[in-house]
Amino acid sequence: MADVLIALGGNVGDVRTTFKKAIANICGMTQGALLARSSDYATPPWGEADQDDFINACIEIETGLDPHALLFTLQKIEKKFGRDRANERRWGPRPLDLDMIAYDDIRLDKPELTLPHPHLFERAFVLVPLAEIVPDRLIGGRRVGDALAGLSTDGILRLPDLD
Ligand code: ADP
Ligand code: MG
Repeated sequence: MADVLIALGGNVGDVRTTFKKAIANICGMTQGALLARSSDYATPPWGEADQDDFINACIEIETGLDPHALLFTLQKIEKKFGRDRANERRWGPRPLDLDMIAYDDIRLDKPELTLPHPHLFERAFVLVPLAEIVPDRLIGGRRVGDALAGLSTDGILRLPDLD
């Protein structure tokens, strides 16, 4: 079994409900077990400022799927929740983005799958939820908590748990 960290994001529709359902789908469709789930965070949009705030969260799962099979499954789940890659802008509004942050300690450098995620260390909106669940994890040789300490977390707001 592999230990995998996944980042969730979205800013269209009822994102927190989407996350809840998407996490159930991720576990069901990847023969996965949910090991940890962060809080949800409201975060300012990144890349393209003129759009609604995002919600972001991170999960840790254990899965028997290999990295490409897992990516394919995550993309299927994005689509199921309304993601339409053909008609969206890079970094523009989307109902659900599922990014693989790390898959065990595997390194991959392919356009369709880069591991660890290439932009992880620039993105406080990923590192804040990640540091909540795995602060001491080393990713690409860096401790998650230390990587976060070097970034501004302005505008990132932890949301109270839903019932
Ligand atoms: P972004 O996540 O950067 O906002 P997309 O979700 O549209 O953009 O993903 C763009 C492409 O990134 C996808 O086609 C996917 O194959 C590729 N990709 C490369 N590495 C990863 C990864 N670690 N996790 C998810 N997608 C990845
Ligand atoms: Mg993505």
